[in-house]
Amino acid sequence: MPEGDTVFRTAHALDAALAGSVLLGAEIRHPRLATVDLTGRTVLSAGSVGKHLFIHFSGGGASGSDDVGDISLHSHLRMDGSWRIGAPGARWRAPGHQVRVVLSTTRAVALGVLVHDLAVVRTAREGELVRHLGPDLLGAGWDEDSVAEAVLRLTAEPAREIGAALLDQTVLAGVGNVYRSEVCFLLGVTPWTPVSAVDAEQAVRLCRKLLLRNATRTVRITTGDSAPGRQLWVYRRGGRPCLRCGSPVRSAEQGREIPPRFAWFCPRCQSGPQP
Ligand SMILES: [Zn+2]
Repeated sequence: MPEGDTVFRTAHALDAALAGSVLLGAEIRHPRLATVDLTGRTVLSAGSVGKHLFIHFSGGGASGSDDVGDISLHSHLRMDGSWRIGAPGARWRAPGHQVRVVLSTTRAVALGVLVHDLAVVRTAREGELVRHLGPDLLGAGWDEDSVAEAVLRLTAEPAREIGAALLDQTVLAGVGNVYRSEVCFLLGVTPWTPVSAVDAEQAVRLCRKLLLRNATRTVRITTGDSAPGRQLWVYRRGGRPCLRCGSPVRSAEQGREIPPRFAWFCPRCQSGPQP
């Protein structure tokens, strides 16, 4: 599942490829948005808020008659979505039926593949789509107030399992399944440990540090070691020896989501409840 750092990087790539260019073609393959015509608008920028991605367009379409000011295209990658960028006229690197958005300029073509929660809104009102989120770990405005706010949200339910609380985007925006397991390992607690038994501020700062470090590189590393198989402490390392103590890493389902989501942990390095 794409984490906040992946979405952040995707937004930057879209921004680099599209910003400043006029849309020669724009297709949104969604019944509710099929009649939206973005052709003729200029792509202003692309950015992310947590795992939500926005592409901004200038006001005024080709006709100019329905001008409502700058508008934003919202998308979410969820479990399987991605944005792919190619040269104009290049062969699509995705099956046609999975392509939900096509944005064409003279410089590049961006394909929204299996992107979810598509919405077109006035840019002035896009904040409403992300108002429920906790502080954005990769937000440009991240500061000590963000840390305090995140700690407040994280500790609001002291009995909640830390692994579940970290995944909750209304607590902190940007953490996914990889960081859930990795942050718990670095905190030395299992994902089933109640929030009340965890240093919440340390948890928040760790999430920010790891996402920020990985925001600008394509290989996600939490161990400081870039060698293959040694980049992550426990995530998807079930049955393999812990990189710190050598004990077999374990995994177990956490939460009741469908499909089930697993958390990985080292039973020796991490204290606290285990399923
Ligand atoms: Zn260990």
